[in-house]
Amino acid sequence: MSITRPLWRPAYVAIGSNLNDPRARILEAFGRIAALPATRAVLRSRLYLSRPLGPQDQPDFVNAAAGVLTRLGARELLDALLGIERVMGRERHERWGPRIIDLDLVWFAGPPIDETGLTVPHRSVSERNFVLYPLADIAPELDIPGHGRVLDLKLRAGDNGLVALE
Ligand code: AMP
Repeated sequence: MSITRPLWRPAYVAIGSNLNDPRARILEAFGRIAALPATRAVLRSRLYLSRPLGPQDQPDFVNAAAGVLTRLGARELLDALLGIERVMGRERHERWGPRIIDLDLVWFAGPPIDETGLTVPHRSVSERNFVLYPLADIAPELDIPGHGRVLDLKLRAGDNGLVALE
């Protein structure tokens, strides 16, 4: 992995799991994110329990968010996150199906990015309460370009049955 930039830049990662002891998988993911090269994990949200989107015949999800400082570029960071998904055993099946781990790069410092395989801010960050609630724990004032402040988006989305686990 090439590290192209000397500056430390903030980024936010949304984490979800509903298989293989989801709470433990979220904690494992926090650890793996903290161990990424040229990256420091600086903030961890609370953990939340959420109902699944799509098919309801699957376990509830545990969700969280991490704030990092990184010298990686956005693409390098996303590739590193997809690498964590692979080593943790994520298999891609149905779109809304159960998963051991899901890592989304929800926000990265700098202008929005819309490239093949990389859209930042993540397309659905402004609508999903299971992303907005954890993100509001660690970055309530963050502005999602074109959508608004995370705290306002969270209040607009409402909890809809989402509960904090701790
Ligand atoms: P999913 O596992 O359903 O979240 O989809 C992951 C795919 O979405 C990956 O192969 C990425 O290339 C693509 N993608 C595009 N933008 C993002 C982003 N900001 N965060 C995570 N995945 C992204």
